[in-house]
Amino acid sequence: MLRLDKFERYPLTFGPTPIEHLPRLTKALGGKVDIYAKRDDCNSGLAMGGNKLRKLEYIVPDAIASNADTLVSIGGVQSNHTRQVAAAAAKIGMKCVVVQESWVPHEDAVYDRVGNILLTRLMGADSRIVPDGFDIGIRKSWEEAIQSVKDAGGKPYGIPAGASVHKYGGLGYVGFAEEVRAQEAAMGITFDYIIVCVVTGSTQAGMIVGFAADDRAERVIGIDASGTPRQTRAQVRQIVDNTAELVELGRKVREEEIIILEDYAYPAYGIPSAATNEAIRLAARSEAMITDPVYEGKSMQGLIDLVRNGFFPQGAKVLYAHLGGAPALNGYSYTYRNG
Ligand SMILES: *Cc1c(COP(=O)(O)O)cnc(C)c1O
Repeated sequence: MLRLDKFERYPLTFGPTPIEHLPRLTKALGGKVDIYAKRDDCNSGLAMGGNKLRKLEYIVPDAIASNADTLVSIGGVQSNHTRQVAAAAAKIGMKCVVVQESWVPHEDAVYDRVGNILLTRLMGADSRIVPDGFDIGIRKSWEEAIQSVKDAGGKPYGIPAGASVHKYGGLGYVGFAEEVRAQEAAMGITFDYIIVCVVTGSTQAGMIVGFAADDRAERVIGIDASGTPRQTRAQVRQIVDNTAELVELGRKVREEEIIILEDYAYPAYGIPSAATNEAIRLAARSEAMITDPVYEGKSMQGLIDLVRNGFFPQGAKVLYAHLGGAPALNGYSYTYRNG
């Protein structure tokens, strides 16, 4: 038994997210592997939801207890994470400062005006665009933003990129694993594999700890979308160790239980390849399931490639964790102008 219950959770989501069978995608990929999706993209009514809200449920109580008045975080210009931090801040009555770095070498006339950044601004967050490039680590611009809140007499509460290296960043997705176990029991099935996109690491790290409890951590297949997989892997390792201790897993997760595939992040973080776009179109046209060019399009590309290459045995049940991200599509209006 994992000890998740000893941590306070502030509800930002609707509750357990649905698992749905994807029969037309299953068929389009040959019908030998049964594909399901767990819809964390539909997890909340707050500003279109997504995986960061599941993480933030365990972080917000700490922010409130600290007597902060401003959440301060960081991401790219089209960051889903900073949108969800802005949403959490609005919901709990705090102010919000978000640093938006130029993580993606992508040009579109409306890139910095639509989708995530539009919603972030609409919710009243102070959104500050800076020129720094992609990096999942702790950033100077974030520390400067925290200092700027202090200088103005405010009380900042810092949340790192993706809410990942926060001490409680991994707890939300331990909860995901607990939820899947309960849903499996209710559905009378067991998933053989879980596919998940990984960049800043706490989503997969939480799942690894959660599924280590019934000894199937290595069935969580991380699909790297960072393009800097060594850094991502090191961050996952660190969050796994910290989170395992917090929830009292009772053993160390072995290196070979951390599976991250590096083949799908090309050409760069935030830039879809032709195969990414094919995956986005297939999911949209077969199941009306919308994935984005930064994250879920790449994990969908990985899922499709693994099925086609016989990675999964015949009859395997594969659960695709849909983590959100569709608002970013608006920043790629020219790329998808013809569908
Ligand atoms: C942040 C994000 C991810 C990656 O999750 P990490 O915890 O940063 O590894 C994947 N998909 C979407 C839609 C995201 O917003």
